[in-house]
Amino acid sequence: MILDCGITFPQEDMPGVDIVIPDMSYLIKNKHKIRGIVITHGHEDHIGAVGYLLKEVNVPVYGAKLALGLLESKLNEMGLLSIAKLNVVDSNSKVSIGCFKAEFIPVNHSIPDTYAVVLTTPVGIILHTADFKIDFNPVNERVADLNRFSEVGNRNVLLMLADSTNATKEGHSMSEKAVGESLDNLIGRSSSRIIIASFASNINRIQQVLNLAEKYRKKVCIFGYSMRNNIKKSIELGYIKVKKGILIEEFEIKNYKSKDLLLIVTGSQGETNSALSKIAFKRHQKISIDKNDLVIRSASVIPGNEKFLYRVINELFRRGANVIYQSLSDVHASGHAYKQELRLLITLVRPKYYMPVHGEFMHMESNAMIAMDMGINEKNIFLLENGDVMKVSSSKITVDEKITVGASFIDGSGVGDLGDDVLKERMILAQDGILNISAVIDKTTRYLKAEPIITAKGFMYEKESDDLMRMIKIMLKEDFDKYQKSTLHISDLHNIIKKRLRSYLYQETKRNPVVLPVIIEV
Ligand SMILES: [Zn+2]
Repeated sequence: MILDCGITFPQEDMPGVDIVIPDMSYLIKNKHKIRGIVITHGHEDHIGAVGYLLKEVNVPVYGAKLALGLLESKLNEMGLLSIAKLNVVDSNSKVSIGCFKAEFIPVNHSIPDTYAVVLTTPVGIILHTADFKIDFNPVNERVADLNRFSEVGNRNVLLMLADSTNATKEGHSMSEKAVGESLDNLIGRSSSRIIIASFASNINRIQQVLNLAEKYRKKVCIFGYSMRNNIKKSIELGYIKVKKGILIEEFEIKNYKSKDLLLIVTGSQGETNSALSKIAFKRHQKISIDKNDLVIRSASVIPGNEKFLYRVINELFRRGANVIYQSLSDVHASGHAYKQELRLLITLVRPKYYMPVHGEFMHMESNAMIAMDMGINEKNIFLLENGDVMKVSSSKITVDEKITVGASFIDGSGVGDLGDDVLKERMILAQDGILNISAVIDKTTRYLKAEPIITAKGFMYEKESDDLMRMIKIMLKEDFDKYQKSTLHISDLHNIIKKRLRSYLYQETKRNPVVLPVIIEV
């Protein structure tokens, strides 16, 4: 059985890569053993790669209504919807997956319909918390089902896997309702147009914004593909309720005064092509920033995105907007448990073995410390790296095997056809540019048929380019002359040109452009 199958987004050193999925070669090799996929919730990093896996291993998928609803849209885009075997589960479900039985316990998170998974296996019970928090004041959903956790605890849990993302933070995570109060204050007091950026999957946050729009008689327009898509899907499935007449379309905006408008947009991470970024940098067709606009960023920043985000926030301020972000006001609550919530769950479940999951290694380490403080024996706590194989029996756990895992890079439609060297080449192209030399040589006389065509991109300044070009031409002439008078193979000529030009260009420009000779014999 596989638990979740997500994607991650490319880092700055992966130019041209759209998404990153897990390397599935181990799963494909063992596909005869796989009986099903269980989905804990509808976040991209948990459902994004399911389609790529189903292409190879078409086993049944189990998940809650919202997660499967969001997954459906993805499978549809990939043309897989008709073959996928999707099974909706809820807190009452008990499903058999091979020799396992799975049950689902509702927890709170930053997307509705998130479930911890209880697996009854032949050797004992394994509990996976999923991404979770315990919110005693949730919006539109129940408090995580603590009764069920304690009930499962009474059945003797062999191994518990727990979310570590916020395990370094003392106390209890903020409630979603508290975010609503902060937003109420800001929206209620504002007499200007309001623009709110959030995660498109934070359905309950969006619901709160819609409620406040109704309370303060504002019209709401939604911008950004994923935001429109998710809100539409959530209304369809009943996760978002909005009174008629609150939502308006782009073309209707002109009928309302600024102070009566509230825009919900994508771009809480400063993504270049998101609605907020386009609006900030005057690249949006319909909306631009007015002086006095109130922009609220109701989201956290995913590490690595800071640079892009600050660029957008600076631009918004520059154009006269008032920008509110998390560190200025409580306009966002994390979806992951703090220390107190982990302590509470460990107390209820009382597992024999404990394994921190999710988050960086430092977070998992902190999670392990919590378990130790709560009385779990240090040698019963397992900190694993990706690829480590954990063998569980009723009396012991061993970790002594490693399989190859990693990432596959996807650009456009191809899967896994981008190796590390392709990425390295793209990095060089992006940073240091390219020099292309096209030439045609006579097969029998070995003479050049015409002057070679030289194109340079991305490494020469206008001023110095004349001198460089002149020198490149002289060097090429020498190389082609040498070839003509010798018995060298054409591939030797390639290498000579590459080597000489690269060292010359480095010496002159301190850059390492890709030198690409294309020489054809006719
Ligand atoms: Zn999540």
